[in-house]
Amino acid sequence: MSAITMRELTKVYPGGVRALDALDLEIADGEFFALLGPSGCGKTTLLRTIAGLEVASGGSVRIGERDVTNLPPGKRDVAMVFQDYALFPHMTVRDNIAYPLRIKKVDRRSRGSKAADTADELGLSGLLERRPGQLSGGQQQRVALARAMACHPQVFLLDEPLSNLDARLRLEARTFLKRLQRELGVTTVFVTHDQAEALALADRIAVMEGGRIRQVGTPTEVFRRPANTFVAGFIGSTPMNLIDARVRGDELSVARAGLPLPDDARGQVTDGERLVYGIRPEYLDYSPTAVPGALTGEVVVVENLGSVSLVSLDVPGEDTEETGPGRTSVQVVVAEGGEPEPGDTGWAVPRPGRSLLYRDGNLVTAAATAGVPAPRADAAARS
Ligand code: ATP
Repeated sequence: MSAITMRELTKVYPGGVRALDALDLEIADGEFFALLGPSGCGKTTLLRTIAGLEVASGGSVRIGERDVTNLPPGKRDVAMVFQDYALFPHMTVRDNIAYPLRIKKVDRRSRGSKAADTADELGLSGLLERRPGQLSGGQQQRVALARAMACHPQVFLLDEPLSNLDARLRLEARTFLKRLQRELGVTTVFVTHDQAEALALADRIAVMEGGRIRQVGTPTEVFRRPANTFVAGFIGSTPMNLIDARVRGDELSVARAGLPLPDDARGQVTDGERLVYGIRPEYLDYSPTAVPGALTGEVVVVENLGSVSLVSLDVPGEDTEETGPGRTSVQVVVAEGGEPEPGDTGWAVPRPGRSLLYRDGNLVTAAATAGVPAPRADAAARS
């Protein structure tokens, strides 16, 4: 068993930076797990604390049944692949792969054969006598992975493993890494700031902000049902549309349009309450003619994204005492051939079951708010 369990894990750097803030997280045995979040949110610190390269200021880390919180890196049975691969330039590929075995005092002959076997699995057999400087970026990455694999660790920790590769090689390496992880079945944690990479590779993703975890879920869960507006804005190649809305009877007023309440929100909201309506650009359909229950406005920008276009509509904002009747922008993904021209009037039709509501930044769901009394109607109307 090599599940990883973190309880109230805290890391405060000298100077007082709280890089991990009482973080709780469980990573299952054999899982391919991504740590995702903006720069400075604590991803690398978390990975290094699991590795033992940083000492926790509080809380615990367990790998399987073992509490490793106070163990040095060499005793944790983890292998880390660094962003820059950290290969020894003066050693051959064979010696680089065999290096951790040498540290573990494995005899020379076994080292050589294990290094050759691992190199074979990763398609590096023909390169064993080369030095890192004579390899491409993708080959260097494979050598770094081979070096990590040669010891058969319980856990792989990968720090931005694909970031040094160019766009095409990156796609290739992504597929390779996913296949390799499946075949080996070793619990793997990787750090990335690239949400597309996390969605493509991971079994589950933790989205971090300010040393805390904002949501843990499968790629589908974090994409379709972000738990809060931070995750909604972070995940997806185009961020979710987040638009001020107001409950009016059993409808929702969004950009002056009357939309049905999302199923989850029924019974959870109060007449007159102000909320934020969320819908992904991919889940809006564009119509050049009027459609009931659609958001309408002028097309201001059309961006070509290859097989689809991203259309920005300028729609009226919610009329509030503080802001008055402002304007807001709604983005819609439009399939090839259906693109409008700037200046056209268009309608954005939400697909059924795809819209979400947020109250104070958190998703309104039947499950999350069950048992919590709804705010009083008069209080909501005043707010
Ligand atoms: P990036 O994507 O930019 O690598 P990250 O999410 O991996 O960021 P960390 O490197 O873990 O973030 O840093 C978390 C916070 O801790 C940041 O505010 C960073 O400035 C701070 N930090 C990291 N290392 C140290 C250190 N050795 N001493 C002091 N502060 C540090």
